[in-house]
Amino acid sequence: MTAILTYHHVAPVPPVGNERRGLYVAPDFFAAQMAWLARRGYHVATLDEVRADLLGSERLPRKSVAITFDDGWADNYAHAFPVLQQYGFPATIFITAGKIGDSPADAGASPSTQRHLNPAEIAEMAAAGIEFGSHTREHVRLAEVAPEQCERELVESKRILEQVVGGPIGWLSYPHGSFSREVIQAAIRARYVGAVSTIRDNRATYAQLYFLPRVMIMPDTTLLRFRYYLSPWYHWIHAFKNRRRWGMYRK
Ligand SMILES: [Zn+2]
Repeated sequence: MTAILTYHHVAPVPPVGNERRGLYVAPDFFAAQMAWLARRGYHVATLDEVRADLLGSERLPRKSVAITFDDGWADNYAHAFPVLQQYGFPATIFITAGKIGDSPADAGASPSTQRHLNPAEIAEMAAAGIEFGSHTREHVRLAEVAPEQCERELVESKRILEQVVGGPIGWLSYPHGSFSREVIQAAIRARYVGAVSTIRDNRATYAQLYFLPRVMIMPDTTLLRFRYYLSPWYHWIHAFKNRRRWGMYRK
């Protein structure tokens, strides 16, 4: 059982009422969560290791997690990267390839939360063992755009990122969790080895390789709740909800 954790911003949390608040985790909360994983003897796996485990070619320890970040915010470099380095934890950052180095006017409070990672930051982290995946080129809802646009988003983001990172991009994260059977087929054609979704669960089967469930870490995720997120209880509750909500979900 390998829980795949989802983070977005790691930065000071905006005040209650800010519509983007749910996407933030405070740097001290993030540091405490990583320290907890280290203290409890968790193995932090790469997504390739998770895949190998699902395929049966490798066996991960029972206490394993994988760490992912969506959107590629510059605060990941400022606040998460040093902590990951401290513990030697691998992680995968899913980048919106068309927004590298961008500064959207409406995003967050501090300078590093207002812009996306730039090529220099991505290259430095890649050299230090952080992995990168595609979060498409323009952050589109893949299941809702024309098939040709979906294909372009998957192929071009992969090409752009492979150039910036200087290595292969194997993994995909669906913006807004939007995917379908057709999107999965397009991802396979574009040679992604797997994809993560916004379905909530802390374990997966091989049948879910292109819509792996994750656990979203929120600004109010205390260590007590973090521990629950990694527990069998979280799985049982969400397995029940998911069977009703997701037609293609298999146990
Ligand atoms: Zn996103």
